[in-house]
Amino acid sequence: MGLIVQKYGGSSVADAESIKRVAKRIVETRKAGNDVVVVVSAMGDTTDELVDLANQVTPFASGRELDMLLTAGERISMALLAMAIKSLGQDARSYTGSQAGLITDSKHGSARIVDVSPKRVREALDAGAVAIVAGFQGFSRLTGDITTLGRGGSDTTAVALAAALDAEVCEIYTDVDGVFTADPRVVPAAHKIERITSEEMLELAAAGAKVLYIRAVEYARRHGVTLHVRSSFNNNEGTLVINPKDGDTMEEPIIAGVASDLSEAKVTVVGVPDVPGMAAQIFTIVASTDANIDMIVQNVSTAATGRTDISFTLPKSDGAKVLKALEDAKGDIGFDSLQYDDQIGKLALVGAGMRTNAGVSAKLFTALFEAGINIEMISTSEIRISVVTRADTINEAVRVVHSAFGLDAEELAQVHGGTGR
Ligand code: ADP
Ligand code: ASP
Ligand code: MG
Repeated sequence: MGLIVQKYGGSSVADAESIKRVAKRIVETRKAGNDVVVVVSAMGDTTDELVDLANQVTPFASGRELDMLLTAGERISMALLAMAIKSLGQDARSYTGSQAGLITDSKHGSARIVDVSPKRVREALDAGAVAIVAGFQGFSRLTGDITTLGRGGSDTTAVALAAALDAEVCEIYTDVDGVFTADPRVVPAAHKIERITSEEMLELAAAGAKVLYIRAVEYARRHGVTLHVRSSFNNNEGTLVINPKDGDTMEEPIIAGVASDLSEAKVTVVGVPDVPGMAAQIFTIVASTDANIDMIVQNVSTAATGRTDISFTLPKSDGAKVLKALEDAKGDIGFDSLQYDDQIGKLALVGAGMRTNAGVSAKLFTALFEAGINIEMISTSEIRISVVTRADTINEAVRVVHSAFGLDAEELAQVHGGTGR
């Protein structure tokens, strides 16, 4: 028997009863002869509630204090879970991220892991105990401060520990039975995917399928960690996220799934002079704000004015600072005005089989047309097609596209817990 890392998300430890249920499952895994390292998220919607609380005190909290506040959520669940396991007669010890050796850079709110030295976790395992680690948090040696890894970051903690400890598998326990062809809360007819490549999972995660955090998928891919996403509410097999090596053959469906994202906004720079260097200037300014932009569309300029519009999408949370930076440079760039639209939704269709199959875009656009949904922007990569629509049509868009590609299952998907927040 080997070492297993299990990560339990917030909905799996939402209250005392859930914590006791999860504790039983962990003890069973330990009793079967495995070494067990558990990574735990904050209970239920605790992190969101702490963010709301901070906003009520001030909308301008520093990253350092926000991280200090948010990491408290995982400390609560790790201690309660350790207590629950001990009460079942199995030794368990809880550790904060820094105690578990998760060293990060000093970027509050989205720190990156730079080193993992889980000495104390190993000691706990050697002593026969289950090690419980608070997810989503680390420690910066540079500043001596506590950091967080970005929302959803407990997944990354689990993968990083699995890699450092050379675990057999990293199990991600959540409130659905695995990775589905679409969010089961949006498409009840979505079906569970048995095996998905990390390449496709990365695209789905990047496009808003929050069942796995994108950085965790990246980390697992780089370090060859096998992920098993499954429900903590039953014993069903979930979804394996695998890293096929060159030469491996895997039967791939054309489409892996559909994802959507309502967290983005669209900025349009109106009336940009159509001369060389304008895009460079605009996106250098945007880059200086550290915003992660995604789709970019530039129109053909009108002959009469020699001017064009450039639109791009970005997280709503970056909207204000990007608008300000561009407004400050208005004189230099010489554009007419800025438009900001936060009522957009983004849909992405993902599948490795797109590489070798024609007609996927045509089918997608036809499905949206037949549903009367207008497409505002389009972008593609080798294995993904993304479109922007109005926010209030996005769920309908996901359902019709899911159906058009024959992904609907006979049986409805089950969501076992959580609020979907
Ligand atoms: P946890 O608290 O366990 O980390 P999350 O809320 O982060 O759980 O992720 C699980 C949720 O992800 C599900 O409840 C589901 O609504 C959502 N989700 C979005 N896209 C997908 C997908 N393709 N497959 C499964 N779940 C998805
Ligand atoms: N509790 C954190 C969040 O809600 C981290 C996580 O659950 O993965 O984002
Ligand atoms: Mg999550």
